[in-house]
Amino acid sequence: EGMTVVELAKRTGSSVRSLQEIMASVGEKVGSEFDPITIDVAELVSTEVGVNVKRLHSEEGAILKPRPPVVTVMGHVDHGKTSLLDALRKTAVAAKEAGGITQHLGAFVVSMPSGASITFLDTPGHAAFTAMRARGAAVTDIVTLVVAADDGVMPQTLEAMSHAKEANVPVVVAINKCDKPGADPERVRIQLGSEGLPLEDLGGDVQVVEISALTGTGLDKLEEALLLQAELMDLKARVDGPAQAYVVEARVDRGRGPLVTAIVKSGTLSVGQYIVVGAEWGRIRAIRDTLGRATELAGPAIPVEIEGMKGLPMAGDDITVVGSEERARMLSQGRRKKLEQGRLERMSQENQEICAEEGDDTDEAPQRVELPVIVKGDVQGTVQAVADSLRSLNSPQLFVNIVHVGVGPISQSDVDMAQACNACIVGFNIRSLPSPISTSAKKANIKIFLHRVIYHLLEEIGKLIVERAPGTA
Ligand code: GDP
Repeated sequence: EGMTVVELAKRTGSSVRSLQEIMASVGEKVGSEFDPITIDVAELVSTEVGVNVKRLHSEEGAILKPRPPVVTVMGHVDHGKTSLLDALRKTAVAAKEAGGITQHLGAFVVSMPSGASITFLDTPGHAAFTAMRARGAAVTDIVTLVVAADDGVMPQTLEAMSHAKEANVPVVVAINKCDKPGADPERVRIQLGSEGLPLEDLGGDVQVVEISALTGTGLDKLEEALLLQAELMDLKARVDGPAQAYVVEARVDRGRGPLVTAIVKSGTLSVGQYIVVGAEWGRIRAIRDTLGRATELAGPAIPVEIEGMKGLPMAGDDITVVGSEERARMLSQGRRKKLEQGRLERMSQENQEICAEEGDDTDEAPQRVELPVIVKGDVQGTVQAVADSLRSLNSPQLFVNIVHVGVGPISQSDVDMAQACNACIVGFNIRSLPSPISTSAKKANIKIFLHRVIYHLLEEIGKLIVERAPGTA
């Protein structure tokens, strides 16, 4: 919309000429450098020159409407994040009307009697939050920090606080388990205050609510607090025009193919549109709300399930609407090429590290724990993505060694290989495990993880690492 090649050259730090060459190579008409080019062409071209020009879209002059807040629940393990999400999901008024059956889509909406609503991301924990952030998806507006009243502030409480602070996302504290005999909410307040969280009671602006996820006490207060926080933030979004959205979760359904839970940031998605999602593309065949009802359109901050992707994207990937199938294909191709390049670079770097390690025989060097992993999955794109996210766990203390990557079901030869190199097996988007394989894996004491959601996988692998090598994760 109005951006010229000259402007794009300035933004990407490339020459007008090189941009025009790229335009020609993808079949775009090349006119004067002062001719306006569309956003998707601009993005396509900038992707090609290796610059991520996001937010090209100008929100100037657009009509903004209030939107619900998107909330993530964080806190220390066992402090009640899952229980809180379960309890909140049950208060979703509409869900009750529909018979209380909600599918797990990675997000749900609580509608208040006042007409206001709150969108909760249904993946507790920090892995989800950081993974989304790492991909540039600033989806969360507010963090609900769960702290157990009987346990108080713990390491992951502090971690959550710093994640929220870094991301510049306000916190609402939920002191949970207030039903317990040993509950001491006052102590939690003092602890949080002394950790530098400016609580309301102490003259700050961070609200604190006492709740019990178990009995449901205080959930209404929490919802009110979240809405109040949202009001203070004056959350608004452009409703008209092309959508900018993010993937919250992606999975494959046997009959319907890849399914993506998306949250629109601005604009409106509609059935029939071509979209590019991360390095994948598709045409929206159907949109469903979190209760499974078909709809034609999806507006800001309301999670929806999208059907029609050609491949499986990853959580945190951005969704861009493009004008045609050709555009969609080209853009996804460009991105895929870039991903592949990055992957090759990381792999060669990793190989160098391994070689360096092998040459180093001194006992004094701190031991780097190795976790050999075999990755199997439904399609090539997925297994690569899974392998990449596992590699991202690497640190000076930990080496996730992907010994084998393959497409298809987990077989006896995978189990044999796992036994030979003391590896665990990860099956992503794999329907089931044949019982003979499961039996022989058990016999050989080989861990097999079957997952459809990358966070769940990473969390479980994280646990395994802690088990095998305390102190590395
Ligand atoms: P998460 O690890 O943070 O997701 O914690 P969970 O939701 O799995 O809860 C950990 C344990 O605390 C479970 O046994 C829950 O039943 C229990 N729990 C969670 N919330 C409450 C609560 O409000 N009151 C009591 N008494 N127990 C709770």
